Amino acid sequence: MSSTYRVSSEAKTDSSCTHPAGACGTASVIGGRLAPEVTPWFALGMLSGVPVIEAKLPAPFRAVFTTRLGGQSEGKFAAFNLDERSGLDPAASANRTHLSQAIGRRLVSPTQVHGLRVTGTAEYAAGSPEEPCDGLTLHPLLDQGLAPLLLFADCLPIILYGEADLAVVHGGWRGLLGGIVQRAASAMMSAPGGMIVGPSIGPCCFTVAETVAETFAARYGEAVVRSAAEEVLGEVYRVDLWAAVDAAAGEIGISSSHVRNLRLCTACNRDLFYSYRAEGPLTGRQGCLAWAGGEA
Ligand SMILES: [Zn+2]
Repeated sequence: MSSTYRVSSEAKTDSSCTHPAGACGTASVIGGRLAPEVTPWFALGMLSGVPVIEAKLPAPFRAVFTTRLGGQSEGKFAAFNLDERSGLDPAASANRTHLSQAIGRRLVSPTQVHGLRVTGTAEYAAGSPEEPCDGLTLHPLLDQGLAPLLLFADCLPIILYGEADLAVVHGGWRGLLGGIVQRAASAMMSAPGGMIVGPSIGPCCFTVAETVAETFAARYGEAVVRSAAEEVLGEVYRVDLWAAVDAAAGEIGISSSHVRNLRLCTACNRDLFYSYRAEGPLTGRQGCLAWAGGEA
């Protein structure tokens, strides 16, 4: 695996690069967007030539966030779309196969519905692939050989990790209000000691109707709603989902110093990420992929 996977800042300047044309160049574009304060917790990586952002997790766990760079999809889906369920992008399957082969694991990708169900990766894989599910736990022994892959285009990719297992969660606004983070913590075998938040829509771009803003304020406090006069655009309000997930982390015993948020807005960085809000329904999905074991 070490030959196909590496995480290194050297990817930015590797003159002996044998990756597909442009892969290292595009990787350096991602690197340029990472704020210095997040670099202790995230690193630029390559999965067989596809640039990814790796979350630094305790062994044996590994997790990466894909971008829209490096794959075979074309047009609105260019280039590393992982959504094969829509049936709109014939290259999505090849992109997924690329990921699966790069890490030597079978991908398990649930049918995400903005619901609250969280279950084990092997348990989900044994059932119907159409079953709604918005979070998968991963245990090195119980889920051996499997890798949960959840898809995103603005919603928050959330990883909870503990000593024995981790959970990958689809955190949209409905899920955050409904308590999916809390459900995921309950579904894990070990108490989560840390949280990772991947590329997702930021408070800069997440506008909602007043009723949604009020519901968020009631659930997570006034601080998650930008209530200053200059922040209110007519009937539209801004909700800070990153602050909301911080609050959710506190509810499950994770201190804010153990919440590692990449703080890269998908709607602001459309050259790197798919954004449903910014691009509409005809867009692709990036992934959050986790697995256990393998060479570090
Ligand atoms: Zn933004």
